[in-house]
Amino acid sequence: MKARAFDYVRVSTIDDALAACARASGDFCYLAGGQSVVPSLSLRLQAPQLVIDISRIKEMRGIALIDGALRIGALTRHAEMLISPEIARHAPLLRLAAPHIAHPAIRNKGTIGGSIALADPAAEFPAVVLALDAELEIAGPDGRRRAKADGFFKGIYETGLEPGEILTAIIVPQFGENDRCAFDELARRHGDYALVGCAIQGRFAGNDVEAIRIAFLSAGPTQKRARNAEVVITGHRLSPKTIADAQSALELDLDPTEDEQTTATMRLHLARVLLGRVLGQFSCDSPRGGGRA
Ligand SMILES: Cc1cc2nc3c(=O)[nH]c(=O)nc-3n(C[C@H](O)[C@H](O)[C@H](O)COP(=O)(O)OP(=O)(O)OC[C@H]3O[C@@H](n4cnc5c(N)ncnc54)[C@H](O)[C@@H]3O)c2cc1C
Repeated sequence: MKARAFDYVRVSTIDDALAACARASGDFCYLAGGQSVVPSLSLRLQAPQLVIDISRIKEMRGIALIDGALRIGALTRHAEMLISPEIARHAPLLRLAAPHIAHPAIRNKGTIGGSIALADPAAEFPAVVLALDAELEIAGPDGRRRAKADGFFKGIYETGLEPGEILTAIIVPQFGENDRCAFDELARRHGDYALVGCAIQGRFAGNDVEAIRIAFLSAGPTQKRARNAEVVITGHRLSPKTIADAQSALELDLDPTEDEQTTATMRLHLARVLLGRVLGQFSCDSPRGGGRA
């Protein structure tokens, strides 16, 4: 099958992208890495009149430490997360999650901005930005704004982006000396979308967990923090009892859905198993960069 005919424009600045969007007389969409939008056009799941190619916008590239926070351009590709020294040092959770996304060919083109803007409930990076307490830098017809990742993911493929808005960068608080992180997921085959995935970042005070953020993917209609499990763990040592209590709390936190891969009950069971595994990697004794990649 081929895409329906559409007009195409490539822009080199955010302002030009917004101007193209303002001029559009019908449906339009942005094109970043193209790893989701191109298959969707080819399968005619969407048929916009205009495709605005934002992949060459320089302002949306680059990774830099600014005022104690890491600014990651929305066009940063998944593969760059694996090799960037800034990511390894200041946002190692992204490095831990990136190898789980698809395959190298897709990671070489797909962008973090595209992944977050699309908000596939099975995507890794939306869960990671929740665990990182990141902020999202957004440009739109009404100017520029920032939004917390918390609350941004509203449902299946549904985010807090207003029509025409562009996600320009992700702002991540700097990784502290006592911070640790871990990521893992369960998938039928490596590279498949996960049956369930879990991202954790937190801070230790001695052996106790001083603060923790736990976010799941593929465990409901959208990526979600496990707030009850976080409460169970905060202020405690990661003993077998604390971990078991956190696993039990997931019943209150998650709203797993049934699909062709597995049932909702099995998904909740897998989420509990996975939480135990990821908490096992999240330890004050683990290397500063977190658990296994
Ligand atoms: C076979 C296959 C397997 C995959 N497996 C996984 C996986 O395991 N995990 C995973 O997370 N992903 C997976 N993906 C998706 C891949 O990671 C995509 O790259 C990602 O979802 C979208 O990024 P992109 O840059 O390619 O966006 P595009 O495909 O270019 O765009 C996706 C959507 O987001 C919009 N958009 C893009 N960038 C922006 C922006 N900056 N601001 C506003 N809107 C924007 C576009 O208009 C479009 O609607 C897979 C894809 C394929 C083809």
